[in-house]
Amino acid sequence: MTTHPGLIKRLDEVVVNRIAAGEVIQRPANALKEMIENSLDAKSSNIQVTVKQGGLKLLQIQDNGTGIRKEDMEIVCERFTTSKLQKFEDLNSIATYGFRGEALASISHVAHVSITTKTADSKCAFKGSYVDGKLKEAVKPCAGNVGTQITVEDLFYNISTRRKALKSPSEEHAKIAEVVSRYAVHNSSVGFTLKKQGENTADIRTCAKSSHVDNIRTIYGPSIAKELLEIQHEDKKLSFKCHGYVTNANYSMKKCIFLLFINHRLVDSSSLRKAVDTIYQAYLPKNMHPFAYLSLEIAPQNVDVNVHPTKHEVHFLHEDAIIASIQSAIETKLLGANTSRTYYTQALLPGAPVSLDSKEEDPNSSKSTSGGPEKTYAHHMVRTDSREQKLDAFMKPVNPSTTTTTEDVPKDTTQSEDSQMETSPSGDVMVLPSCGAQQKRRPVKLTSVLTLQEDIKENMHKNLREMFQFHKFVGCVNKEFSLMQHQTKLYLVNTTKLSRELFYQLMIFDFGNFGILRLSEPAPIYDLAMLALDLEESGWTEADGPKDDLAQYIVDFLTSKAEMLSDYFSMEIDQKGNLCTLPLLLDNYVPNMEGLPMFVLRLATEVNWDSERECFDTFCKETSEFYCFKPSLFQNQEKESTDSQEEEGVTDKSWKWTVEHVLYSAFRNLLFPPKSFAEDSSILQIANLPDLYKVFERC
Ligand code: ADP
Ligand code: MG
Repeated sequence: MTTHPGLIKRLDEVVVNRIAAGEVIQRPANALKEMIENSLDAKSSNIQVTVKQGGLKLLQIQDNGTGIRKEDMEIVCERFTTSKLQKFEDLNSIATYGFRGEALASISHVAHVSITTKTADSKCAFKGSYVDGKLKEAVKPCAGNVGTQITVEDLFYNISTRRKALKSPSEEHAKIAEVVSRYAVHNSSVGFTLKKQGENTADIRTCAKSSHVDNIRTIYGPSIAKELLEIQHEDKKLSFKCHGYVTNANYSMKKCIFLLFINHRLVDSSSLRKAVDTIYQAYLPKNMHPFAYLSLEIAPQNVDVNVHPTKHEVHFLHEDAIIASIQSAIETKLLGANTSRTYYTQALLPGAPVSLDSKEEDPNSSKSTSGGPEKTYAHHMVRTDSREQKLDAFMKPVNPSTTTTTEDVPKDTTQSEDSQMETSPSGDVMVLPSCGAQQKRRPVKLTSVLTLQEDIKENMHKNLREMFQFHKFVGCVNKEFSLMQHQTKLYLVNTTKLSRELFYQLMIFDFGNFGILRLSEPAPIYDLAMLALDLEESGWTEADGPKDDLAQYIVDFLTSKAEMLSDYFSMEIDQKGNLCTLPLLLDNYVPNMEGLPMFVLRLATEVNWDSERECFDTFCKETSEFYCFKPSLFQNQEKESTDSQEEEGVTDKSWKWTVEHVLYSAFRNLLFPPKSFAEDSSILQIANLPDLYKVFERC
């Protein structure tokens, strides 16, 4: 059996046109887009669209533009008739939407089209009806306003396959609404209305002479409109401009809304759409997308609008470079939206100067309020209720009774007037009612001390001070480090370093006015010194002489200073060379007695006793070294106890309690953080809430 080749026949022109038309006009929304563009080309300021059954039954557009001259009515629907282009070269500088003269012709090949139009200088309007690009009969004069009304009925009446493919009017209606919406946003000076035939209320209505943002608000809603960032970008090298609005990182939605106009033509560029969406992946929760409206103006010779009759997907020269340029413009804007709120997001890293704007302390900074109340976004919100959960809550079951006691502790940890009798966790020190504290505070007249106080105040970092004043304690990492939050930031704070500074400052400021910590039993200085000399830390070598000689020297030396030690520093040394008391620097705080031997040794050996100021300075430094909160000197012991069940026990609870309620509370109220803390990694910013949002929500 042989098969014969089929005969090649020339297609009937009407069929050719219909096929071609079907390519241009694939659905009602395509037809509408063409007609809207025609209305805009005709300089309309008002465009009303009426549809029935998603535009399949009826698609009508009424504008108030220039109208069509009566003489042109005859050919207006023929292929390749246009008032907008004469030569091929004109394509390079086309300023109007239409240029092929293909739209109306195409529509008339797949639908019943009638046009009623009136130019300004015509006495009346004219109406013509078209089929397959041709007038059905001579145009007829009729009544009408200046402008053009084009009615498209029974779209695809002659292409049953297409008609069947588009069986959902509501889907087509949505597409139409999308086209109207987008043109309305872009052409904000033109008023748009979209209505279903027979219904009184419009689906979309924008006013003439409104703004892009007005129309975004009207059409896409206020929740998008209030989160918009304006993009204004020009790249002279790539000769393009970009203007538009994108949502900031606070807004996101399941589906990306991307409105793109290139040279005022509604187009799509999947590569640009993807590029924009990609930027937001770093800012938005997983699978969430932005809203973006971008209008690009690219040198016409660089845009290939001739890519497809639908003129929808567009390509342009230097596409990659232009996309990258737009990407970085948006990115900068997004970042800028964060950094403009410097109050929340200044970096606090080692080496970086701290420059939190101080709202509270600067009475001149009225500018922060004059610009209207600045909105705080969810991920910039800071908890302000200290009862909210801390780190501990996640570590172990909360014991309600413990919680109550801890909350009962007075915030104010300044030198108490009447110290209560208390037993310290270690049991070997008792805080006795301080005899000195009951009396009036003694004014300090020593210039040396006053100068040291001045130094501390002068060297204070204002913003760090504020940060501590308003911090929220998050939890202890270990004995050395804790986490605290200020505004949207999480900081890792070196408790040891800060407490060392705190105790030094307390020494200087409460000079001569300390309460008393009485040792449960007087401690022989000799024994303490011997203990210290046995420690590797003491650095004792045989060259220093016998330990007992040194110990005796220390006893004698400190005893010789007993009067001053007692008077200024509340350190009593009895006749037998026993240390009886220590200064009470902070209520509810007892230094770790492990450090007492070294303290005693260093008082004798490290303090500069010669000049007054030096003496007080070094004495206070040594004391603060002893008092500061730190991991146990005996590392192994420490390890054992933290690894064991004791972590959950009373001992453990008490040190964490102390850190939070005694130390950090004092950091809040009493500490003057020195400037160096901003740079020496005493305080490290380890997270910023807006960034965490990005990380966590993407998980
Ligand atoms: P193009 O827009 O490519 O020129 P169209 O087929 O869309 O081709 O339109 C053909 C011509 O009909 C246009 O060039 C224009 O002169 C005229 N025309 C179409 N719609 C309107 C309108 N709403 N107002 C005024 N003139 C119109
Ligand atoms: Mg056109």
